[in-house]
Formats: sequence, C-alpha cells, structure tokens
Amino acid sequence: MDFKFSEKEEQLRREIREFAGREMAGRDLITGLEEESRDEDWEFAMQMSKKLSQRGWLTMAWPKEYGGRGASFFEQHVYMDEASYWGIPGTTMGVSGIGWVGQSLMLFGSDEQRNKYIPPIAAGEPDGIWCTAYSEPNAGSDFANIQTRAVRDGDYYILNGQKIWTSCAHRARWCWLAVRTDASVSKKQHGISLIILDMKSPGITIKPIYNYAGIHIFNELFFDNVRVPVANLVGTENRGWYQLMQSLAFERHSVAPQFYGTARRILESVIKYARRTNLHGKPLACDPLVKHKLAERAIELETLKLFGYEITWKLSKGLIPIYEAARNKAYCDFVMQRLATTGSEIIGAYSQVDMRSKWAKVEGSITRLYMMFPGIAIAAGTDEIQKNIVGQFKMGLPRPY
Ligand SMILES: Cc1cc2nc3c(=O)[nH]c(=O)nc-3n(C[C@H](O)[C@H](O)[C@H](O)COP(=O)(O)OP(=O)(O)OC[C@H]3O[C@@H](n4cnc5c(N)ncnc54)[C@H](O)[C@@H]3O)c2cc1C
Repeated sequence: MDFKFSEKEEQLRREIREFAGREMAGRDLITGLEEESRDEDWEFAMQMSKKLSQRGWLTMAWPKEYGGRGASFFEQHVYMDEASYWGIPGTTMGVSGIGWVGQSLMLFGSDEQRNKYIPPIAAGEPDGIWCTAYSEPNAGSDFANIQTRAVRDGDYYILNGQKIWTSCAHRARWCWLAVRTDASVSKKQHGISLIILDMKSPGITIKPIYNYAGIHIFNELFFDNVRVPVANLVGTENRGWYQLMQSLAFERHSVAPQFYGTARRILESVIKYARRTNLHGKPLACDPLVKHKLAERAIELETLKLFGYEITWKLSKGLIPIYEAARNKAYCDFVMQRLATTGSEIIGAYSQVDMRSKWAKVEGSITRLYMMFPGIAIAAGTDEIQKNIVGQFKMGLPRPY
C-alpha cells in the first residue's frame, strides 16, 4: 500500500491547477448539473469540454483507440478530484456520455456503435452529448417496473411511453434509453432492453421541469410512435437489465472523487470565512463548537477520500468493485448534507441569499450545496437503495425483493 501519488500524477495535478487558475479566474463555482440550466453556463461548459479533450483529460483513462489518453485510473482520479475542486465545468460533459455511456458501449456495443458514438464523446463535441432515460412516473427505485414500450416492426422499434427526471434531455443529441421489449415475462427484470435514441427523431416531446432553485436540470420525455432502427439496440434484446446494472456502477464509481474535490474546496472556503469573521472580538474559528464542527467535516472528507481511493485501487488492479460504489454514494450524500448544514450555521443568514447575489459568501457555495444536496442524494439511486445494495452485497442480508 502506498499513500503517495507518483510524480507523474502530481505533475498532472499541477497542470490542471495551472489550467484552472487561468481559465476559471473570476468565475462562479458552479457545481454539477447546474451547468445544464442557463445558456451562458452551458456554452462555457462546452468550450471547456473541448479544451479538456484537447489536453487528453476529458476521457483520460479511456483507451487511445477510443479517443482517450490510456492513462491510469489514478491519473483519472487526480483529474476528477482536481477538476471538481476548481469547479471546471464540462468535466462530465454529455453528462452520461463520459460517465457511463462510452464505457458501456466499449463493453456491450457493436463495432459500428463504438465507432459512431464514442469519438464525439471523447472529443467534447455537441454530437457527443447524451442524456439517460431510465426513470418513469411509476419506476424510480423500482426501476425494473419500466413500462415504456419498444415494439418490433421490421427493422425498427416503435416507441411509446413516458420518461421523467431526464437530466440534460434539453441539451442532448442522444439518449441512453431503457425500454420494455417484452411485456409477457414473469420476472420484471427480464424483457428490458437498452437502446440508443436519436433525440432529433420525430414523435419526441421534451417538457422542462424546474427545480425549486429555478434551475432547469431535468425534463419529462414523451414518445409517440417514435421509430428507432433495430441497429440501435445495445447488446442483447431483453437482457438490458444486466447491462444497465453495469452502467449504473460506472455512474457511481466517479461520485466519491468528484464530490470530494468540490467538498474540499467548500470546506476550505468555510474555514477561511471562520478565520476572518469575528464573534465577540475573536475569530469564529476560535470558538470550540465551530472548531469541532469543522474538524468533524474534515474527518468525514478524509474518510470519503479513502473510500474513493479504494475503488480506484481496485479498478487499477482489474478487480470489480461490487458494493463499494453504493457505499460511496450513500456516504457522499451524508457528507454533503452535513457540510451544507455546518456551512449554513457558520455563515448564518448569508446562507439564505441567492447564490449569485452580491451578498453571497463563500462563492455562494453553501446555498448552492444546500439547494442541491437533496436532489443529488436522490439521483443515481436514493440513499435507501444504496444501503440495500450494501446490505445485500457486503453483509449478505436478504434481498428486499
Ligand atoms: C437531480 C436529479 C437528477 C436525475 N436525473 C435522472 C436522469 O438523468 N435519468 C433518470 O432516468 N432519472 C433521473 N433522476 C431520477 C432518479 O433516478 C429517481 O428520482 C430515483 O431513482 C428515485 O425514484 P423516485 O423519485 O421515483 O422515488 P421512489 O422510488 O418513489 O422512492 C420514494 C422513497 O421511497 C424509498 N424507497 C423506494 N424503494 C425502496 C426500497 N426498496 N427500500 C427502501 N426504500 C425505498 C426511496 O428511497 C425514497 O425515499 C434524477 C433525479 C434527481 C433528483
């Protein structure tokens, strides 16, 4: 075991810091999905995505044949941590494209699909922007209950149904879509397939859903006799469930290093604030209660960092993390909530102003975190679902279904 990064990895960290210092100067710390909302943020994210791709960072650990840099998982870890710390947008560009579509296509896609869809993702191009449509009004945690139908008609599937909470659908060129191709099965996990949907297809309606902060992340998607070529089926018809489980694992692998980077930055900012803000003639940071709360948050972040390293180490050894990604997601949700609460307690009423207001403290990051953490805790599977996975795969407890 070695708790030190190599010189190559440290050099990469320095390069990213230098890049971020130049490119991000004077910009708001916008985190996560928020960049999909306002046009100007999205345009900036697209520009950054291109620049990241030109440096070989965007899909760092992908093989060179797929537009990656063939870098190690640890280099990728350093990149995710550092890019999140600096709030570089466009790092998850295409939202799902970089996070799980590309890797899943490498595993299950046909040669034709890999050649067509992977290069634009790695190049950070608009043609490489994806959304992911799993959830439906009656299928969230109970994902296997999806009802959107794809019925075979010659060389096409005819698609009818509805998806909901589809992040980035209003920006995406393609959709990574879970559908039911066989409704006669006795076990609902069977009869599900994964298909690639061209978002320009006739018959698709996208309706925005604004969250309570007025941010447009997700959408409703309606399908009215949408025709999808059978060539867009990924992997084996009716076996999509197993591919989707792998895709979800890819999605959750990156959660810890990404959130750790963001949280590290926020905690540092809150500590600076506590040092320079006086209470009864002394800096807030001298107050034992404040000190203890900050120390607790620092301990949690250290734990999260180690959880993240463990997954990266396993991946680097060719081992498959089973429950660890779910554990990290659940722990991230916990850490986010505690950091948002401590931050609000320390900056006080300033936590209530708009995150872009001139009154905002610590770059508006506490307000932003407070607004976003409940949603992030739901996305990619709720806390309860992550704990079900840990219970089943780590502890051997009975399945919940
Ligand atoms: C910010 C955000 C972005 C999202 N982006 C996308 C996207 O891009 N694509 C997409 O397809 N979906 C997306 N979603 C939807 C998300 O995946 C679902 O909201 C999530 O899976 C939960 O489903 P649900 O909302 O239907 O809640 P439900 O499944 O109805 O759950 C309600 C409550 O019951 C609990 N519960 C349910 N089942 C169990 C169980 N077996 N054991 C214990 N507790 C249980 C849940 O934990 C939750 O607390 C997004 C959601 C958010 C908030």
